[in-house]
Amino acid sequence: MAELGVGTKDLVEKPATIASLREGIASGVISAVELAEQYYARIAAHNPLLNVYLSLTKEQALEQAAKVDAAAVKGEILGPLAGIPIGVKDVLTMQGAPSTAGSAILKGYEPPYDATSVAKLKAAGAVLLGKINCDEFAMGSSNENSAYGPVRNPVDTERVPGGSSGGSAAAVAANLAVATLGTDTGGSIRQPASFCGVVGVLPTYGRVSRYGLIAFASSLDRVGPFAGNVRDAAEVLQVIAGQDPKDATSSARPVPDYIGETEKDLDKLRIGVPEEYFGEGLDPEVRAAVESGIDSLRKAGCEIKKISLKHTQYAIPVYYLIATAEASANLARFDGVRYGHRSAKATNLASMYRLSREEGFGPEVKRRILLGTYALSAGYYDAYYKKAQQVRRILAEEFLTAFGEVDAIVTPTAPTAAFKLGEKTDDPLAMYLADIYTVTASLAGICGVTVPCGATSAGLPVGMQVLGAHFQESTAFRVARAVEAANAI
Ligand code: GLN
Repeated sequence: MAELGVGTKDLVEKPATIASLREGIASGVISAVELAEQYYARIAAHNPLLNVYLSLTKEQALEQAAKVDAAAVKGEILGPLAGIPIGVKDVLTMQGAPSTAGSAILKGYEPPYDATSVAKLKAAGAVLLGKINCDEFAMGSSNENSAYGPVRNPVDTERVPGGSSGGSAAAVAANLAVATLGTDTGGSIRQPASFCGVVGVLPTYGRVSRYGLIAFASSLDRVGPFAGNVRDAAEVLQVIAGQDPKDATSSARPVPDYIGETEKDLDKLRIGVPEEYFGEGLDPEVRAAVESGIDSLRKAGCEIKKISLKHTQYAIPVYYLIATAEASANLARFDGVRYGHRSAKATNLASMYRLSREEGFGPEVKRRILLGTYALSAGYYDAYYKKAQQVRRILAEEFLTAFGEVDAIVTPTAPTAAFKLGEKTDDPLAMYLADIYTVTASLAGICGVTVPCGATSAGLPVGMQVLGAHFQESTAFRVARAVEAANAI
């Protein structure tokens, strides 16, 4: 049986690899049911402090695990994730479990269907442990906007795990799941992965179906994995990627062999280092860790090239205009009529809408609905929303030009390591500005991987962001693997 460290005081624990668990389960050395039970024991021990899981799906999980064990005994060919314990961010629907999106307005809401990414995990044999905490409607960078309380960073429990998929990152860092699903609209997979010292993947827009994802900003939202190492992240992406007739924006491009590609060597890849990502505001210790990661790529035979992405400074305002505009439209559906909270104080239809939304949404969500509604209103539309779309295009073209010269681009994932709980809650602008290195790839639709590349003197993890051109996840994985290998020495 794999050593899971159940009951240990140490919160940070690396999960066993998917390949080792898969082999153990297939050969009968590990029982999927026992493995799931061990995870639930570890969750019971640590969730009260970390607040990672919002709901557990133990019955379904054990049923799935028992099926895997029975198939293993018969020597049947098991799915690629058979018996692997995985957690799912609460913005993705899962039949038989609540999906709150971290919001009070959806408290107790049980969707009648699985998100496509969730359905694909199930079909691959994964054992889905439960639903994971996040910022309300995925809006935030610290997980402090959840209506169900903040998540604590397992590396230092006085600090945030990042957001909005903070619970998904913390779950892997504390080994409360072998891998998790998160979503990333402006950095919500990459930044928390960086803060918690795990691997996170932003797949190309269209690579993973958004069906069953409770929408925040539809032109930016992506579903992607967290894992303890690059190869495992590739294993999960392999399963969830692909076209879906239920999501018209999903791509028909065939899904490559990510797992095989991850192992390929670097073959003199050209790596771009954009100067705009190493300027003012970058913590010197984060810079040093990222530079040592770049050094290891140089030593591994990559050609390191300085590049410039001149419009980077506009990315934050552009992102916060487009994301809020789309959010204001997407969140109009929460009106107390079809699902979610309905105010008990309502006396007529108008007051039902108003009071249900007033009582159900938290302050950050309200702020964004107001900002987005303003940006879209007649008279301001051209000056804000339309202008933001034009600059978005320029930002995307700038990346396309850069990818004509380099195979991948490396940057810090975030300007600092994990900050303290409460440190930025009174200053939404400071919180927004910390997304500076992640929102650009979101706007451009390109892919990226964040991989741990070192730590600060206080022992806080630092992540390096490896960006790839559209649908070049394999390249990003290869580069991330090299950084991972160098960092392990
Ligand atoms: N931190 C960013 C925001 O608050 C990104 C969130 C996300 O990617 N879902 O919008």
